[in-house]
Amino acid sequence: MAKYDAVFLDVDGTLLWVNLDVEGYVGDLAAYSKSGPLTVERASGPVWESIRRHIKENIKHRTEEDLAGFKAENARITAEALDIVAPVEVLTEVANRRISFNPYAESVRVMRELRSMGVPLYVVSNWDVLLPGILDDLGWTGYFDGVVASAAVGVEKPEPDVFEEALRVSGASPDRVLHVGNDPVTDVEGASEMGIDAAFIDRTDAGEHPRAAVTLPDLAGLPDFVRG
Ligand SMILES: [Mg+2]
Repeated sequence: MAKYDAVFLDVDGTLLWVNLDVEGYVGDLAAYSKSGPLTVERASGPVWESIRRHIKENIKHRTEEDLAGFKAENARITAEALDIVAPVEVLTEVANRRISFNPYAESVRVMRELRSMGVPLYVVSNWDVLLPGILDDLGWTGYFDGVVASAAVGVEKPEPDVFEEALRVSGASPDRVLHVGNDPVTDVEGASEMGIDAAFIDRTDAGEHPRAAVTLPDLAGLPDFVRG
């Protein structure tokens, strides 16, 4: 019998990291540059800024259609900052192609091991409404009994509503749940406030979190902790 009835998992910084291929972006759009050659050096700032804008504002767009409109506008703003003039379909297609979601080395092994212990897993993430599709593209859908994305709930962690929705979906009692995440505030404090144990995944060596039930350098030690 495991120590927990359910494990909640954050995504970015916990199961995978997000990368932007600025060089690829430049290669794709160089031909549309209206003021001299487009370089990686020049493009880096605006391209990464577009991701920050996406992270900050996706919560306002609660349907795929609405989000698609925001993504197109975001791609257009980025292009404008770089003096690129191209059809908006081209801009959004390039923006989609040049972002990647990269699993940490141990992520799949750990999810499998937790599943083999009979512990249901739930994604609890500050993410836009496209998260289920991204997990599906990674081949991860089968690992999870449910996906709770902030944009679908309408608020972000550490707000209690996100954890409440995950508790509702899982049917688990807070004192029998472990939430796993890399953010000291949104994950560790957010879960703790709900009476949910938190595992702090400290990939940047920030040091032990006083409110975490456990602090781990990566996910590798998670199955042993959940086993108790
Ligand atoms: Mg995270």
